[in-house]
Amino acid sequence: MVVVGSSNTDMIMQLDKIPVPGETVLGGKFSTAAGGKGANQAVAAARAGGDVTLIAAIGNDSLGKQAVEGFLVDGINVEYIKRVNNAASGVALIFVDKRGENSIAVASGANMALCLETIINATQVISMAKILLMQLEIPIETVTKAAQLGHEAGVWVILNPAPAQPLDDALLKLISILTPNETEAEFLTGVKVEDEAGARKAAEVLLAKGVKAVLITLGARGVYLACRDKRELIPGFKVDAVDTTAAGDVFNGALAVGLAEGKPLEEAIRFANAAAALSVTKLGAQPSAHSRAEIDCFLGKRQ
Ligand code: ADP
Repeated sequence: MVVVGSSNTDMIMQLDKIPVPGETVLGGKFSTAAGGKGANQAVAAARAGGDVTLIAAIGNDSLGKQAVEGFLVDGINVEYIKRVNNAASGVALIFVDKRGENSIAVASGANMALCLETIINATQVISMAKILLMQLEIPIETVTKAAQLGHEAGVWVILNPAPAQPLDDALLKLISILTPNETEAEFLTGVKVEDEAGARKAAEVLLAKGVKAVLITLGARGVYLACRDKRELIPGFKVDAVDTTAAGDVFNGALAVGLAEGKPLEEAIRFANAAAALSVTKLGAQPSAHSRAEIDCFLGKRQ
């Protein structure tokens, strides 16, 4: 599979409470971890058993080099990662409070230099993939171009529309599976998504725009699935949440693996729910993505 997206370094601070503007909160615990939605989803997919090529852009700096070293450890193909000379690698500042809720600010840097040319140079690898997985932390023209190439070649195009931004109907028509969370689904449709009924309404709006399947992730409750002949809630798994950072990323990475392996959509969603549930039991973005063996073991116990 091919993942096109961002790579960042996450600077994480765990605090009792997230400061509001003008407030200083002492007593934080600091750590760094590799992150960025594209990289997180690529790493989650690789650990979940996927054969992954990541198309991304990094700065010519130590954070970028470190990120690539991490991808190599996870067995990701880094041949299409662009090194940008005049931009810093992406950085995200993340606060996590004692309930596991987070607040995030991102300086995209080199991610915004992931341009059409990079995608065009990767036409062959995109066209030969079974799954193309993308998010919205890179220029939208880049996402659209990759979606066009994938769609023309009959590749399943999964778009995780995060962070939320307006999307053209022309882009939505190229999407096989759209995976918004509740906030993103509401942003894209104007429909309040607080329960299953809201999810259903929002999903109908997106299906009407030409998306083939809509998966609205509902946190601990699981996923609402809507496609041509199905409308159903696929429940999540009960775990003790420590940090929900990147739950959606792990979900999307594992979903792509399930589908690449030929699992039916509902089964791929259950697999992704398990991978994502495991990830919220551990701190950080990429560090929280579990291995295939761990996901299979977790699922084995919940049969
Ligand atoms: P995002 O991280 O993008 O906001 P969600 O919060 O909807 O997305 O989470 C994505 C998926 O992660 C959910 O559909 C579910 O499978 C899993 N998940 C999230 N939070 C929990 C939780 N507290 N317990 C179990 N699974 C969770």
